[in-house]
Amino acid sequence: MKKKLSTANRTFDVIVVGGGLAGLSSAIHLSKANLSVLVIEKNSFPKHKVCGEYISNEVLPYLDFLDIDVFKLGAKKIDKFQLSTTKSKLISTALPLGGFGISRFCLDNALAKRGLQSGAEILQDSVEDIQFSNDVFSVVTKSDKQFEAKIVIGAYGKRSNLDIKLKRQFIKSKSPYLAVKTHVKGSFPEDVVALHNFEGGYCGVSKVENDSINLCYITNFNSFKTYKDIDEFQQKVLYKNTFLKDIFTNSSPVFKEPLTISQISFDSKKPIENHIIMCGDTAALIHPLSGNGMSMAIRSAQIASTLIINYFNSENLDRETLEKKYLRAWNTAFKLRLKTGHIIADLFNQPKLSEVLMQGLKWFPGILPYIIKRTHGKVMKAE
Ligand SMILES: Cc1cc2nc3c(=O)[nH]c(=O)nc-3n(C[C@H](O)[C@H](O)[C@H](O)COP(=O)(O)OP(=O)(O)OC[C@H]3O[C@@H](n4cnc5c(N)ncnc54)[C@H](O)[C@@H]3O)c2cc1C
Repeated sequence: MKKKLSTANRTFDVIVVGGGLAGLSSAIHLSKANLSVLVIEKNSFPKHKVCGEYISNEVLPYLDFLDIDVFKLGAKKIDKFQLSTTKSKLISTALPLGGFGISRFCLDNALAKRGLQSGAEILQDSVEDIQFSNDVFSVVTKSDKQFEAKIVIGAYGKRSNLDIKLKRQFIKSKSPYLAVKTHVKGSFPEDVVALHNFEGGYCGVSKVENDSINLCYITNFNSFKTYKDIDEFQQKVLYKNTFLKDIFTNSSPVFKEPLTISQISFDSKKPIENHIIMCGDTAALIHPLSGNGMSMAIRSAQIASTLIINYFNSENLDRETLEKKYLRAWNTAFKLRLKTGHIIADLFNQPKLSEVLMQGLKWFPGILPYIIKRTHGKVMKAE
């Protein structure tokens, strides 16, 4: 058994930076193995997040291991997929594995509660700096608190102040993508996730636990900037797709204002930086068109947690080996999906090509489930 650090001056076995899906899943997993875990999350729970909120069923056995029953939380079972082009041509197919719809407001909150029950500490603060020296991490927060840990998991999402501190390559270039999300009440089938394309972007539609419909779209700044506001953009661009026009105009908003995020980058990142083990979007962001970022976040947490538990329990596993094993396992799990996600997004970025592609899919409907499988993983193991 590796010697743990003393806890007198707030030291932990593992500090998890960011309490989203990746951070909280790993916090539960690690605390279940009796490691001392501190999660530092800048926001309070519960909180809405910009996300399509459709998750592949591949995560269900692992969520079960974490003692999270999404259907008890009201998640909607989804087994059908609809895809439409900018010209409103529609293809429908069964989802090979299926999934479920649940809001991040609900899921992240349930994971946070479970994390506390399993013994993890959660601190609401923003991490400002992470230093590694003499085989120990020192983590400093905005409110000037300092903690030490043997291992730090970076699970702080797509983009953060820490990426600048760590001089990560992707943060140096501007990204043109922005996303908008809202919940509405209206009529939409519970068992369907739809992806409706419009010029310059695509919008995901599916139901979540409280019968709200989640509408979440991603577009690029060039398409957006010529319009005065979100309303005008939706009316003049999204509504050209008749499916989107129908959903937006025949529903009533749940949120006062839609949530927005910008600077979404799909550039590649390193899954380990300065010995920090990166999980979820901090390691890589797949195009939402593939609808699989959340299960990737949860799966990467499982991969990291299993290896970190082995690291603490085995004298023979040193940091270098831990990092090598994480990199290898991460690449095996995600490299191909990321590549496929990029190719699909590039194709759908070109309106004429995407129309041809859709015609091809109509003629050969068996191709669509095959493409979906390429962006999704196998069902996860239960620990
Ligand atoms: C428009 C859009 C639609 C999407 N739709 C889907 C979908 O339908 N299905 C799907 O599977 N995936 C989807 N995704 C991807 C999915 O949202 C992400 O992959 C997933 O949220 C990743 O989880 P995470 O835990 O890595 O990061 P997050 O959930 O972003 O969590 C990171 C956390 O870190 C915190 N944080 C950041 N910086 C700091 C700091 N310095 N100190 C402390 N805390 C910090 C943040 O507050 C946040 O809570 C979508 C993504 C986008 C952009």
